[in-house]
Amino acid sequence: MMNRLLIATAFLAWLTSAQAEPLRVASLSTVMADLARQIGGERVEVTEIVKAGVDPHIYEPTPGDRKTMAKSQILLASGLGFEGYLDKIRPGLEKSGVRLVVGGDVVKPIEGSCDEHEGHDHAHGHSHGTTDPHWWHSISNVQAVAAQICNAFVAADPEGKATYEMNNKNLQTRLAALSKWVRLQLAALPKANRVLVTSHDALGYFAKDNGFEIFAVQGISTSDQPSSQKVKRLIGEIKARKVKAIFAENIENPKVLEQITNETGAKPGGVLYADGLGSGPAGTYEGMMKSNVSTIVEALK
Ligand SMILES: [Zn+2]
Repeated sequence: MMNRLLIATAFLAWLTSAQAEPLRVASLSTVMADLARQIGGERVEVTEIVKAGVDPHIYEPTPGDRKTMAKSQILLASGLGFEGYLDKIRPGLEKSGVRLVVGGDVVKPIEGSCDEHEGHDHAHGHSHGTTDPHWWHSISNVQAVAAQICNAFVAADPEGKATYEMNNKNLQTRLAALSKWVRLQLAALPKANRVLVTSHDALGYFAKDNGFEIFAVQGISTSDQPSSQKVKRLIGEIKARKVKAIFAENIENPKVLEQITNETGAKPGGVLYADGLGSGPAGTYEGMMKSNVSTIVEALK
């Protein structure tokens, strides 16, 4: 009897510790890949299909990428129209048994600025209506998506439940601390200085959380090109409000940004991470957010 109990206990311990193969997770979002690594730890293997530094607005999956997605057990995507090709590949993925985890399904969406009346070319963009897809610039959205990823991992790999839930709990604590840090840093900025002039309209969620106004040269996609009237209007607005700095982005910037900086006398405020994570310290969500906030405070204080 005792022996049997020992064997059963040992078997159970083996079951919970040994995992033949890690959960195969593919990601179209650098932010969600980071969350997945933190929640999954060694139980998951995360393949980044869209990598940092790639413009996700114009990215299209290659045949190799499609194979990687079809072989994954879970595919992470931002949603809200950010991946314009997602609806097209969804049926095939579902047939292959891939679980799609779409961050945009669990966040509170906001509207982007609408430029459609100016006749912009949206053929290449991600503009489904005007919903702003850059939800990760609000930390509370990231907390919701982390919980969503945790639930998906538990469903796909129930034996890892305790690990995933503990890692998610720790991540939630760190995100709450990050939120507090952001508020503390931004307290240095008077209300009148809270104006963000950026390349494209990607920081709407950040602006909403922290009381900023956004003036973006392009719309919610990097493929939206501004009309000359819009540029003129922007230059007038920047001068009238005596905006101190204009921000560039780490991936793509419209040529006209330099012209606007020159004509307004505002200084270049540095580089913001708009469409996902960067490299080095900005290679994690926490690092990216800290880099953006520090750059903004330094330039506008
Ligand atoms: Zn964008």
